[in-house]
Amino acid sequence: MNLDYGKEYEDFKKEVESFCREYSGVIITNKKGGALTALNAVGELDNADGQKLKRSEWQKILIQNGYFARSIPKEYGGFGGDIDIIKNRIIAAEFASAKLPPPMGGQGIDMLVPTLLELGTEEQKQKYIKSTLHGEMIWCQGYSEPNAGSDLASLQTKGELIDGNWVINGQKIWTSTAQYSQMMFCLVRTEPDASKHAGISYLLIPMDTPGIEIRPLVDMTLNAGFNEVFFTDVTIPEGNIVGKRGEGWTVANSTLGHERGSLTNPNATMSRLNLLIDRMKEETINGEKVIQNPAYRDKLIKLQGKVMAFQSNSLRVLSAKLNKGQDVKIAGMIQKLIGTELRHELEGFAIDVMGELGTLYENSPNIRDGGSWQFTYMYYLGLIIGGGTSQIQKNIISERGLGMPREPKTQQVV
Ligand SMILES: Cc1cc2nc3c(=O)[nH]c(=O)nc-3n(C[C@H](O)[C@H](O)[C@H](O)COP(=O)(O)OP(=O)(O)OC[C@H]3O[C@@H](n4cnc5c(N)ncnc54)[C@H](O)[C@@H]3O)c2cc1C
Repeated sequence: MNLDYGKEYEDFKKEVESFCREYSGVIITNKKGGALTALNAVGELDNADGQKLKRSEWQKILIQNGYFARSIPKEYGGFGGDIDIIKNRIIAAEFASAKLPPPMGGQGIDMLVPTLLELGTEEQKQKYIKSTLHGEMIWCQGYSEPNAGSDLASLQTKGELIDGNWVINGQKIWTSTAQYSQMMFCLVRTEPDASKHAGISYLLIPMDTPGIEIRPLVDMTLNAGFNEVFFTDVTIPEGNIVGKRGEGWTVANSTLGHERGSLTNPNATMSRLNLLIDRMKEETINGEKVIQNPAYRDKLIKLQGKVMAFQSNSLRVLSAKLNKGQDVKIAGMIQKLIGTELRHELEGFAIDVMGELGTLYENSPNIRDGGSWQFTYMYYLGLIIGGGTSQIQKNIISERGLGMPREPKTQQVV
């Protein structure tokens, strides 16, 4: 079997390799409240010479070269190229093997931009996409409420149309990166008399609007990764709505589909696997390198098999979506379920590899790789919950994907 990409792709691969050589040594710093906490939305990069490169500068370099936002039109700040899965694959593989930092992600770039491309007005696309892609406008997601998580459609934050403005009152919770964000995409109940799913609208709220109060919540990584957000008579223009009034559930689901994809980037998982192998070549058990130890090698090979299967399944799903136009909603849920649990397992294995050093956290002088393994292990436990818990993914996959009976509804106790 000939597995060569062919001349066009071999030339492209050389171009990416040369870019990676030019920028080799650029790394992400793991600052508190920084890059990792905000899903790479904020923070700085350091290169090997200790020079600082802003996250948004790196982002622009990647877009200019077509290594990010490749198929997004130039007029919206993208590279303006064709959709080409093989080129995307080459970029990801070269970046992973050169251990270069991935592009910025976060809820604006990964979730809001594709939603606006799909369902936004031309004015909204012009206004928001470029600044978001270029890392200049950070967004947060206002979905969950104290009494609406897995059962999201129970949300009660109220939006009333008064004199051409939406007036919003209520509370959101677990709002990641709200404290760094300029904008929120938010679900509010605008039709209180309609059925639960039909009464919701999808609004775009500037976070500096009077009446918004943000209270950070410390999560198990010891960072304030998410927040409570309170709204008291928050007033925004009527036009800050995506889709029609009362039809926000459809828009919300488009965003959720993109969220599931973004939480489990298989190329990022592969990069971490490569770093794990490096770590195993450094650490020792009884004077022997961990990579030489049969028990650890066995576990590594099993993990590597899972990561490769995950990566190849992701390509299969991507190609079904982009080349064949198939509906991949359920496949996306499987990716979210498997991808978050696999990443958590991988990060946990690295902690085992480090032995007693794996128990250190944050500023210890002996900590390895800036503490990123311990941090990401905790962080991914959160992502198994965020974007819909594993239990909820399993319910939906079994009911809608496998056609199993719907779960019984519990009786409300009055
Ligand atoms: C790190 C992190 C970041 C987050 N960021 C955001 C954000 O930016 N914006 C936002 O809006 N939200 C965010 N969330 C909230 C997240 O979407 C919710 O936590 C999630 O949807 C679960 O809702 P809940 O916390 O209310 O738990 P609940 O819905 O109360 O669930 C509690 C437990 O019961 C289980 N359960 C519930 N219903 C069922 C069922 N029918 N069958 C089987 N088991 C069930 C769940 O799986 C879970 O284990 C974030 C959460 C985390 C952990």
